[in-house]
Amino acid sequence: MEKNLFEISLCTLDNVAEKVKLDPNIHVILRQPERELTVAVPVRMDDGHVEVFTGYRVQHSSLRGPCKGGIRYHQDVTLDEIKALAMLMTLKCAVVDIPYGGAKGGVRCDPLKMSREEVIRLTRRYTVMIMPIIGGRRDIPAPDVNTSAETMGWIMDTVSMFQGHAVLDVVTGKPLDLGGSLGRNEATGRGVMISTIQLLKKLNRNPSDTTVAIQGYGNVGSIAAYLFADQGCKVVAVSDVTGGLYNPEGLDLESINEHCKISEHHFLKGYKKKGTEPISNEELLLLDVDVLVPAALENQITKENAPAVKAKYIVEGANGPTTAEADKILEEKGIIVVPDILANSGGVVVSYFEWVQGIQSFFWDLEQINSHLEKIMVKAFDAVWSLTQDKKESMRCASFMIALKRVSAAMRHRGIFP
Ligand code: GLU
Repeated sequence: MEKNLFEISLCTLDNVAEKVKLDPNIHVILRQPERELTVAVPVRMDDGHVEVFTGYRVQHSSLRGPCKGGIRYHQDVTLDEIKALAMLMTLKCAVVDIPYGGAKGGVRCDPLKMSREEVIRLTRRYTVMIMPIIGGRRDIPAPDVNTSAETMGWIMDTVSMFQGHAVLDVVTGKPLDLGGSLGRNEATGRGVMISTIQLLKKLNRNPSDTTVAIQGYGNVGSIAAYLFADQGCKVVAVSDVTGGLYNPEGLDLESINEHCKISEHHFLKGYKKKGTEPISNEELLLLDVDVLVPAALENQITKENAPAVKAKYIVEGANGPTTAEADKILEEKGIIVVPDILANSGGVVVSYFEWVQGIQSFFWDLEQINSHLEKIMVKAFDAVWSLTQDKKESMRCASFMIALKRVSAAMRHRGIFP
């Protein structure tokens, strides 16, 4: 059986630790999260009965600053998954060098089967249950799978009610009129585009000769698709849980977005246009394209399908979409993988801008935000790229190397308490 995401992340950590000769006393600390909280979240459902959902908040590291990371609502959430994602957040914040540690939260529930009122009650109760460990200086949640700016608004309000004043810095990814930041909603997709364009530059490739397939048409995938098209790339396929769309001549993203505005749960299902054929998620991953962007969930590219992947480059919009075995197969095939902790870091980078703006009560314009984002991402990408050239390592390995160097330097300077 293939390893779960936590085992995969530990494997990568152990391999890279060996390569960089990481101090074993630091390595042993990083293999575990600092703190794991499991909570029971009772919710009165609309029909009057009570359901108890399981929620988690895991803080992997607070070495470099407050713990940081999203909250997801999904029926398959497990503690091991949240532990892995928390560790990836520590490394993500370190690779782009923003002053945060890593955390992640999740509630095991299917929000698509719940009413809006039920989701609000779930969110507020979960917030209170994790309130002892979150806060603007301790641990700052943000949106993730199936959560949004609206969810962050409910969390912010719940915390504010308890504190007796508006608490802006407790979450990021808030609605714009509640201390949110311009550009935050688009930031992860924009970061995926920036890192892809940077890769194409390094390889002397022209965006207008580049075809792209994107798995996942949520906040990351749909925005990346639009920004890719804006750069002149040809987006030939997109998909979501209801299936995918394929047009070798390039999809008409405008009409797809019009469709999603009014479709159930904003799904692609039901979209029709001449020249555009339906394809499955599995088929999308195997398309003969230049760039494949898995922007849905983890464990999508596995040892089963990796041998058949035809894309030249994979840019990980999702966290953990490639299993360890698949990673090895892709490397042998010469496919370049821009890893999650680098490729999808745009979201947390603009979360950082939002937090800074909230603390200073001074808000920046969109141009400033996008240009700071680009600067940070290009710098991180270039550092990773030159390490891959020097050391002949994969981009995942090089990203982990840079991140671990920063985290271990922080630990050396702080020492081990007491
Ligand atoms: N959930 C996003 C991620 O996985 C954003 C986290 C954040 O902004 O704190 O990177």
